Order: sequence, then C-alpha cells, then structure tokens
Amino acid sequence: MNDGRRHAGPDHHPGPSEADAVSGVLRVAVPVPLRRVFDYLPPAEGPEGQPGVRVRVTFRGRRRTGVILATGAAPEVDSSRLRRAEAVLEEEPLWPTPLFQLLLWAAEYYHHPVGEVLAVALPGTLARGGLPPSPPRLWRLTPEGAEVDPAELARAPRQRALLQALARDPLSEAELRTVAPELQRPLKRLAERGWIASQAGSRVAVSDHEPEAGPPLNPDQEAAVAAIREAEGFQPFLVEGVTGSGKTEVYLEAIQPVLDQGDQVLVLVPEIALTPQLLARFRRRLAPRLAVLHSALAEGERLAGWEAARRGEAQVVIGTRSAVFTPLARPGLVVVDEEHDPSFKQQEGLRYQGRDLAVARARREGIPVVLGSATPSLESLVNVEAGRYRRLRLPRRTGSAGLPEVGLIDLRGKAAEGGLSPPLLQELRETVERGEQALLFLNRRGYAPVLLCPACGWTQQCPHCDRPLTYHQRRWMLLCHLCGHNRAVPPQCPESGCGNPDLQTAGLGVEQVERTLERHLPEVRRVRVDRDTTRRKGALEAKLEEIAAGRAQVVIGTQMVVKGHHFPEVTLVGVLDPDSGLYSPDFRARERLFQQILQVAGRAGRAERPGRVRVQTHHPDHSLFGPLRAHDYPSFAAEELSERRAAGLPPYAPLALVRAEAAEADEARAFLDRAREQGEGLGTAGVRLLGPAPAPVERQQGLYRAQLLITAERRSPLHRALAGLAPRLEAIPDEGVRWSLDVDPGDLF
Ligand code: ADP
Ligand code: ZN
Ligand code: ZN
Repeated sequence: MNDGRRHAGPDHHPGPSEADAVSGVLRVAVPVPLRRVFDYLPPAEGPEGQPGVRVRVTFRGRRRTGVILATGAAPEVDSSRLRRAEAVLEEEPLWPTPLFQLLLWAAEYYHHPVGEVLAVALPGTLARGGLPPSPPRLWRLTPEGAEVDPAELARAPRQRALLQALARDPLSEAELRTVAPELQRPLKRLAERGWIASQAGSRVAVSDHEPEAGPPLNPDQEAAVAAIREAEGFQPFLVEGVTGSGKTEVYLEAIQPVLDQGDQVLVLVPEIALTPQLLARFRRRLAPRLAVLHSALAEGERLAGWEAARRGEAQVVIGTRSAVFTPLARPGLVVVDEEHDPSFKQQEGLRYQGRDLAVARARREGIPVVLGSATPSLESLVNVEAGRYRRLRLPRRTGSAGLPEVGLIDLRGKAAEGGLSPPLLQELRETVERGEQALLFLNRRGYAPVLLCPACGWTQQCPHCDRPLTYHQRRWMLLCHLCGHNRAVPPQCPESGCGNPDLQTAGLGVEQVERTLERHLPEVRRVRVDRDTTRRKGALEAKLEEIAAGRAQVVIGTQMVVKGHHFPEVTLVGVLDPDSGLYSPDFRARERLFQQILQVAGRAGRAERPGRVRVQTHHPDHSLFGPLRAHDYPSFAAEELSERRAAGLPPYAPLALVRAEAAEADEARAFLDRAREQGEGLGTAGVRLLGPAPAPVERQQGLYRAQLLITAERRSPLHRALAGLAPRLEAIPDEGVRWSLDVDPGDLF
C-alpha cells in the first residue's frame, strides 16, 4: 500500500508524543471499507487542520475526502514514505465534540469503518468534499396569503394549486414544479398580489404566528411533563402511553421551556410518521424555527437544514433516523417518537439503530432524552426494569372515548372470499350506514401475492429472487416486491403444453380487498392508501384530506395508514390477515404484529364515539390474542420477554450477524465458513457462532445470501470477539462476495 499507512483496528488512540509535534502527521479517516485510519503529512499550505475537519487526500490513486482524527501524531513509519494531504477544507471542526465523539464510538460499536461512518453522518455534498452551495430560494405564504380562501381562485387553478401547496410548507421552485409544471406566470401573479414571497434561505421555516396554546394537561400528562422538565443532565425517559393518551402533547410541553431557554431540540420520528399533519402541529404549537431533515430531501435543502441546526439557527430539528447525526449548537433535549418503530434501524451500510444512537448521543451531550410509544420495544422495557430508563405512564386516552373494543373473527370454516368475512362485511355496512368511517388494514400491496395455474401448478417466480411475483391487477403486471422486476400478466399459462387460460390467484392484497368491497358494498366510497396509490407527490395528502373531510367511508391501507394520522371519525378497524406474523420464524415478528395491531386499533374511536377492532384469524386461540383483546401490552411483553430469555435472544442476549452474498451459493457459504474459522480462532470465552446458514430469502436480486450468527450472553465478550473478527473478515479473499456486519440486527432476514 503506497497511500498512507495501516493501523490495526478502528479504536486507535491518538496519543501524539510532544516531541514529534512538529514533524507530526495527520491521522485521517478515509471513507473506504477498511477498518483502519491512514497517516498523511500535513498539506504544504493552508490551514493545518485539527480533529473533526475535512481533508482532501489521494488514496490508491483516487481523490477522497477524509476527516482528521488526530494531528501531530508520531509517524510510525519513515515519514518520507507518507504522502502529503492536498488540502484541509475548513478551519473549524464540522461537529461539536460530543457528536464527533459519538460518531467515533459508533464506528467501534458497529465495527464499521470509521471513514464511512463519518461520511454517512455528513450531507452528501460535504462528504464529497464540496463546499456548501447556495441554498435554493424558498417560496412561502405571506400573512395576507394565509388568509386567502383558495376557493376564490377557482378560475386560476395553477395559482390555487400553488397557494394550497404553500399553505403547508415553504417550497423551492423545483418542488413547486411538481404541483404546477408551468409555474413562472402564476408564481409571479401570486407575488404581485402580495400573497407569497420568496427568501433565499435554508429549509428553516419561520412562523409568523404566536404559538397556539395546547389543551390543559391531565394529571398523568402533567406528572410526565414535570418529570422531564426537572431532569438535569442525561436522563432517559420512556413515555409509555396508549394511543391517543396525549404523548405528543407531553413532548410539546416538555420542549417549550427548552426553546424558551434558547436551546435546541432534536425530534426523531419513524419514516412514515413524518407527515404534514405532524409538522403543522409542531409549527402551530411551538412556532419554532423548524428544520426538517429526511433522506428524500433534495441535497441542497438537506444541507441547508443541517447548517441551520449546526449554527443554532433552527430551534427544532425534526427528522427520520439519520437526523440523529445533525449537529446542534445548543442541544437541550432529544425526543424519539414511536421508539419501537423498525424504521429507526438502518438496513444497509452503517447498520445503526437511530433510537439507540439518540440515547447514546444524549448521554454525551448531557441532556434528557424522551422515548415514547404505546407499545415500547422490549429493549426499552428491559432498560426500565434495569433502572436505566425512567418510565412515565399515560394509561388513559384523552377525551371521552375509551380504548376500542377488540374482537376476533374466527375464519375457520368460514369463507372470507376476497378477504372480507361475512361478519366483517356486515359490520362495515352498519358502520357506513351510521355515517361513520371504517379502516381496513392489510400489509400487502397488489392484488394477490401469487398468480398460479390450477391445471399444471405453474407460478411465476421472480427470475432474480426466491419469491413469486405479486399480481397487480390495476397496473396489469406481475411485480417483485424485493427487486422491482416486472413483466406483463400472461394471457394464459405459459408452461409449455399447458396454455390454460384460467389462471388463479392465491393470497390477499389490498387491491383485492378494494374489489371485494366494490362487489359487496358498491355504493360505499372507498379510498386505498398504499405505495401504489400515493406515488405522486401530494397524492397521500390528497387522500388523507379525503378521509378527514369524510368523503371516504372506508379506508383500505397498508402500514402507511398505521402511524401518525388521526382519523377521528373511524369507529371500525378491520385487521385482515395477521396470521403470517403469528408463526413467523423472525424472532421479532410477534412483537411487531402486536405493536402494529395496537397502533392501527389506535386509529379507531378517537373522538367521542367508541371504536371497535375486528381481527380476522384462523388461530383465535393463539396466546397473543388474550392480551391484545385486553389492550394489555405489558403482559404480552412479559410473556414475550420470558421466551426471549429462554431462547437466548435479544434483548437479553446480544446478537450480531455476518451476512454474505454472491452470485454462487458456494461462494457466500465459503466466505462464511472462513469467517467462522476465524471467529473460532479468536477463542473468546462465552461467544457462540451459529451457522453459516442460508438466509431466509436465499436468493434476492440474483444473489445468493447466507449468514453467520454470533451471540453471547453479554455485550462485552461479543464486542471483544467482533473487534477481533472484523479486521480478519477484511483479510479473507472475498472475490465476488459482498459481506456486512450487522450489530443488533433488526431481524434475521
Ligand atoms: P398520542 O401522541 O399519545 O397518540 P396526542 O398527543 O396526539 O396523543 O393526543 C391525541 C389527541 O388528544 C389530540 O387531538 C390532542 O390534541 C388531544 N389531547 C391531548 N392531550 C389532551 C388533553 N390534556 N386534553 C384534551 N385533549 C388532549
Ligand atoms: Zn398451467
Ligand atoms: Zn425479485
């Protein structure tokens, strides 16, 4: 290796010796998949650099942007063999010290290359060595514009569309173009009327309004808010409150004094919960300078929000998991809503758990952190048990509506043709007749997961994955939900010699439920909410609006409808097909299922009217249903925890997974056999290696996948073993094999 010099392991300790300070080198984290740092001579001119600033270097003939971890380090080889760094890119570190320390810690904890960790934590432009571009101009409503009734603009549809889009958020022209492609004229017209104005600016939305007052808190909420307000320094809280118990009110009341004090608040929410409704609520109630961060933002805007947070200009930073890496000048509080949500776990690259990093970050910042959920993760419950987190309970719903009544519909011996059983259809009919709304939850897109030929048994498998293609009737195609491969629906069985024109479907998807409903209750107004029907920007909002305005009577949805939305007129919730979660090999499947059903049940009966939940199942005697019917998450969790303990699974026994994938099954397997040998060679006491075994979906996107499970009774031996193993994995010749290390995997898939 000509560039730089290798170091053993990521957890290298700087320790520059004073004598060498003058001739010292820069120790640089380079974004390459190697768990090492590299030494460079300081650049010939420009700033000398310090830990936490970017530096441009050449690495194996390519220009890279690294981050300095230490300066003045003693070179461990003849410094004449070292290259010179090209340039140090800034004077001051990009990250405040606690966040920088957290990132270095995360590299160790996840046994991930530190250069890649630091690159992940930066907006793309900065990670690539770019300078902050000028942020886009954002248009927003003026106070006069906010008063305008869009109906007045019935004859100017483009102006009306723009005005409506801006009612929710300041938007860039690029974003507005998706609302009205020809936008220069209407935009100019609106500006002339004084209804909109543009500002060169960050994605920090400034509110002109006084914050709205919230409802008077109930005693449970008050106790929770008081506990959080009184916290000094690092203190994790778990707000365990049933759906509709007013958790969000608790966050808002806990946030306000932090803002009053001039400090900043970081709020993490699950991916699909980052809705316009939620943002509007924060804006109304706190009127903060708000920065919104998520991965779907245009890069310039993400960078602008990031910088506004770093400068202390944004008071509330709200975002999905990656927002945990946002630098804050004056952090005062961290909130993680729906902390049990699987989307906090990153599934590729640096496989971090955003919630866990949020807690680790609060510890380093010395501030309180509030995790909230109706159905906390078993991990957090164990942390409460162990006294590490303080639990704050909100056992009652606000308002008069009690928790919805949960009943089962036994599908055994009944024909639930097209996904809806006769008793459920009957209740749907009655609900609609009373002028109320119903919500049907089925977490499967398309019409049916399988298209088959009853004559010869043919099914259409994905050519790249071990999965059948899902039949989408509307789009008239067969689609792989794993890799996106698609093809037209064959008019007849394509098997040679068969040609049967009567192909059938098996299994259930939301499209089919929509058809069934159309057949049985044709006069009912339906709306389907899934990824297929909400692809267009603004489509989801339009559908939610349709529901809120009562124009839709029955909502059919995937997990997109489970979170974040309030449907106050929904009084009946149907859970159509929970059975696959009951007996799944995934050790978290039952926890997820219970959480999901309670979440979706929580959509029902939020206003004055009580709600009902109907769960269709072939397994009404399953032990999960007793606690579910009683809304008794704690006793479900207790049972699940005792099973996890007996089985040696998280949260009691920590896990790590080495995954490998290759074009040939043998190659992936051979890599993991070597990995296992290496792991055994370490001889770390108390660590067990299980496998290699094929992954549950063995072939995906044309690659064979296998995995090796590493577990221990406690964390420290596991991490010792991983620290020894990771560099050895790098040394295994892995021609054609892609491998990764997943610490605390979300599932074993
Ligand atoms: P959660 O986050 O637990 O689902 P929210 O904070 O969204 O609950 O509250 C549910 C609904 O109840 C919201 O419409 C909210 O405005 C209202 N609410 C919350 N707290 C109170 C209260 N103390 N009094 C009256 N209404 C409340
Ligand atoms: Zn056939
Ligand atoms: Zn596929």
